[in-house]
Amino acid sequence: MIFMILILLGPPGSGKGTQASLLSEKYGIPSISTGDILRQSIESQEKLGLKAKKYMDEGALVPNELVIEIVKSRLVKPDCKRGFILDGFPRTVTQAEALDSLLDNPLPPFTKRDSLDYSLSAVVNIDVKDEVVIERLSGRRTCRTCSQIYHIVSLPPKTVGICNNCGGTLYQRDDDKPEAIKKRMEVYTIQTTPLIRYYQEKRKLISINGDREIKEIHEDIIKSLNLVENER
Ligand code: AMP
Repeated sequence: MIFMILILLGPPGSGKGTQASLLSEKYGIPSISTGDILRQSIESQEKLGLKAKKYMDEGALVPNELVIEIVKSRLVKPDCKRGFILDGFPRTVTQAEALDSLLDNPLPPFTKRDSLDYSLSAVVNIDVKDEVVIERLSGRRTCRTCSQIYHIVSLPPKTVGICNNCGGTLYQRDDDKPEAIKKRMEVYTIQTTPLIRYYQEKRKLISINGDREIKEIHEDIIKSLNLVENER
């Protein structure tokens, strides 16, 4: 039985979310996006969402404690029993360290016994140039209901403004607007890129050229993961 814990790393607009859903389908494990969880909690006006909103709207990172709590409570759900994919977490070294200690000491219902398997399989770093990021983010549309991602040029829905999956309405995220895009790219460079080195040193990093077709990138990731699995 396959057990896999994956992290998807890459700048905003690198296609992490799209690749995470494809991998989730392929391996039958959930894809967990801290950004989606935060947006849903803003929609439903929960306390967490209200705290996070001001940071998100300006493209800044939400405080570490908040996102670490989100991840802790998500990873104990039964659908994580065969592993999970993290999309957009960790984003700082502090978060990466918190994840390491969570994997070393799994929370119930996972037991110490599970911890043999309960280790990071790989970190997939999707590499793309700044110009590509800007083009992708400004054309991105997201489903309000199921969070499925589209792009007005490269991945349009069958009917303009409507999600193919669930019929939900598509919208442009506030943080996909030009000022916030600029800020998010800066935040990524300063706070998140140190993770590339962090996981390189742990020999977990797989780098993938993200400036290609979605399918090609997906196949490249699968190929690299097969190599990792064979080495385990
Ligand atoms: P994303 O959908 O992953 O691009 O995330 C959208 C926004 O949610 C980010 O710009 C942050 O404000 C916030 N966010 C998501 N994940 C994290 C995280 N791991 N740490 C801090 N803030 C986060």
